[in-house]
Amino acid sequence: MRAVELLEPFTCEVLDVPVPDARRGFVVIDVQRVGLCGTDVEFFRGEMPYLLDGHANFPMRLGHEWMGTVSSIGEDVDPHWLGQRVTGDTMLGCGSCRRCRSGHQHVCENRNEVGVRGDVPGALAEQLSVPATSLHALPANVDDALGALVEPGANALRAVQGTGLVAGGRLLIAGPGTIGLLAGFIAKAQGFEVHLAGITSPSIDFARSLGFAGVWHLENLPTLEWDAIINATNDATLPSTALELVEPGGRVVYIGISANESNIDSRWLTLKDVTAVGILSGSPALSETISLFASGRVDPRALIGATVGFAEVASVLGGERPAKSGPGPKIQVDPTIA
Ligand SMILES: [Zn+2]
Ligand SMILES: [Zn+2]
Repeated sequence: MRAVELLEPFTCEVLDVPVPDARRGFVVIDVQRVGLCGTDVEFFRGEMPYLLDGHANFPMRLGHEWMGTVSSIGEDVDPHWLGQRVTGDTMLGCGSCRRCRSGHQHVCENRNEVGVRGDVPGALAEQLSVPATSLHALPANVDDALGALVEPGANALRAVQGTGLVAGGRLLIAGPGTIGLLAGFIAKAQGFEVHLAGITSPSIDFARSLGFAGVWHLENLPTLEWDAIINATNDATLPSTALELVEPGGRVVYIGISANESNIDSRWLTLKDVTAVGILSGSPALSETISLFASGRVDPRALIGATVGFAEVASVLGGERPAKSGPGPKIQVDPTIA
């Protein structure tokens, strides 16, 4: 089969590789759609922290936002999965430790992450093998493009849940990238007053086209009371700025990660009675995200700028926009495109 292999930083090639087989407890999936994200770019650039601490090693196969159809199953797998359209959990906990047993497998010390951590090959291939326990079935009205948006959608949903807001609450989302915009769509559907803030003109202009209450330049925010703030940027200073900006009694949700140390002054947490929430993964919210997309209340397909084939992955990860791409930040990959 064909697969996109990241051989070393900045070197991505489409290679012929052996097909995976369905081991006991595992399924093989014919991959239909894969999203590329900021984490993939960090790996491409050789900057992802897991490369430094040995949790990931070159060569590697990226791809953790995916959907496809189960084409074979291993021993001990429920046969109902065969032929199902599915997406899967990126996080593969050990299943037996205290964290896994209490529903926190996404922070299992010994977890693997599909296409990210522990040398588990990702979905940038014609086929992918994952444990059956990580699967989530997709209903027919969640199409392929939406199916591959479930993983980032679940991260965004958890960020919105982390705000603790109820309808009418005013939310500022810093960072109008895929996660920020997904969080914006979800928060809007829940009746929040949603504002986005960014730095670059194209991303601000695109966010302005999506019908939020306000879209601002981060340097030029209006004087409003922010009941909650989601930091979906990779800026190192924004975590502390968010703490200054949020209303006393409010919440700040930290989902973006900066390349450098990004400190907050805990005195402000205390003096303002603010709750800080960290979100690593969409894992616990995958099913809820599928239901949300299936309900039609949140349709983030406008975020997809282009869908490309394997051959274009290297240039996209290198920062180029595909020819004829729309303004959306998310690029998806379809293995059937030459
Ligand atoms: Zn991602
Ligand atoms: Zn575990």
